[in-house]
Amino acid sequence: MELEIIIGLEIHAQINTQTKLWCRCSNDDFDLEPNTAVCPVCMGFPGQLPVMNKEAVRKGVQTALALNCKIPSFCKFDRKNYFYPDLPLGYQISQYDKPLSLNGKVVINVDGKEKKIGITRVHLENDAGKLTHEGEYSLVDFNRSGTPLMEIVTEPDMRSPKEARIFAGELQRIVRAVNSSEADMYKGQMRFDASISLRPQGEKKLYSRTEIKNLNSFRSLEMALNQEIERQRKLWEEGKPQEKEITMGWLADQQKLKFMREKEGADDYRYFPEPDLPPLELEEAFVQKLQNELPELPGAMRKRLLDEYQIPEERVELLLSDLRLMKYFEATAKETSAKDALRWVLSEWGEVEKNLEIKIYDSSVSTEKLTEMIRMISEGKISGKIAKEILNDMAHTEKRAGEIVEEKGFAQVSDAGELEKICKEIVDANPQAIEDFKNGKERAFGALVGQVMKKTNGQANPEMVNEILRGIV
Ligand SMILES: [Zn+2]
Repeated sequence: MELEIIIGLEIHAQINTQTKLWCRCSNDDFDLEPNTAVCPVCMGFPGQLPVMNKEAVRKGVQTALALNCKIPSFCKFDRKNYFYPDLPLGYQISQYDKPLSLNGKVVINVDGKEKKIGITRVHLENDAGKLTHEGEYSLVDFNRSGTPLMEIVTEPDMRSPKEARIFAGELQRIVRAVNSSEADMYKGQMRFDASISLRPQGEKKLYSRTEIKNLNSFRSLEMALNQEIERQRKLWEEGKPQEKEITMGWLADQQKLKFMREKEGADDYRYFPEPDLPPLELEEAFVQKLQNELPELPGAMRKRLLDEYQIPEERVELLLSDLRLMKYFEATAKETSAKDALRWVLSEWGEVEKNLEIKIYDSSVSTEKLTEMIRMISEGKISGKIAKEILNDMAHTEKRAGEIVEEKGFAQVSDAGELEKICKEIVDANPQAIEDFKNGKERAFGALVGQVMKKTNGQANPEMVNEILRGIV
């Protein structure tokens, strides 16, 4: 039986505000001791009152706009009631029937083809605390309790785990471009829940889905989906497709799915309007301003990199995966050329980074320093080979290319007299190569150039060597 795969995602991204969503505790708790970024509000003491964080609203709205969502003029907050030891209030403040935004879309690129993924909604809610299980007992840390989250829900528009991973990657790039979330999955700042069901090809009806909770890497997302597809495929083949909606967990250390429970519906949460927070009325001017201030988004960047610089697609994706790298590349390309910038920022730095384990934009090699070095190559002052050595030196010191050249005597030999002398020596010593060249073997000429370069430790100006040798032979 041909089965079609239906996938939808729910993404939680931590908004990178200074403070939490309802109180003034620090929102940057990654390296803090447990239970030090807390107050009566985020620990759910009786009588506490939440106060809305305007910056979180601003960043939430701007993200929704970047995802092409509509922003209603009115939205409200609701209590989502459930018990969990790291949720001291016994409810989460979320948004139920009147969310911050609705009806957006993101266009992703799947194997060179554009595909539209619908965004159902983006809303705001607070995170819960964190439990650590240690054998017989569990520890609770409330530092994360009350941190602001955007929940981004997609339509069930993805048709393979690969599409889901591509979408997830694009979403990460978008929230980073907007600067609404660091979206560092290692720090739990971006997590995925995936809903998946299968149906016979051609049918329009949706069957009972499985929700897989808390996937915290692109790899886990793809692996968990693949495993669940196989499980559901078997059920279909046995003629008894899944009847009830279920929730699964992902055991990251064992890379296995684990059944958790039958899926709860909205009724189970007894949503009701949050009485301690007034509804939000967003003025048109406020939304319009955020729309106008949207930075260039990954989709547009991709198009521009392809059109403007004619860079191979896989290199474009590499640049887009790291916005700081992309900015560094562009600053260098503007001063030199896209080809040179690609070579030195990606390929050659890749060699340096292997030993140094540091990104070029965090290193001592500023774009100005790199540009200066690339110019020295194009002006014939140093060869590309020597430049590799210089780049390595620059990465390990504060020095500029010019200083290193002077110190190490790297300057390219462009002295015509001296080069002529060396060329003659090489020609005299290689009569066979000259003979071959005269018989039409262009490769023999290349070998002669190579010998001159070798003799000068790579410091001869290759263009001049070419010219001089052509004159002699
Ligand atoms: Zn607090």
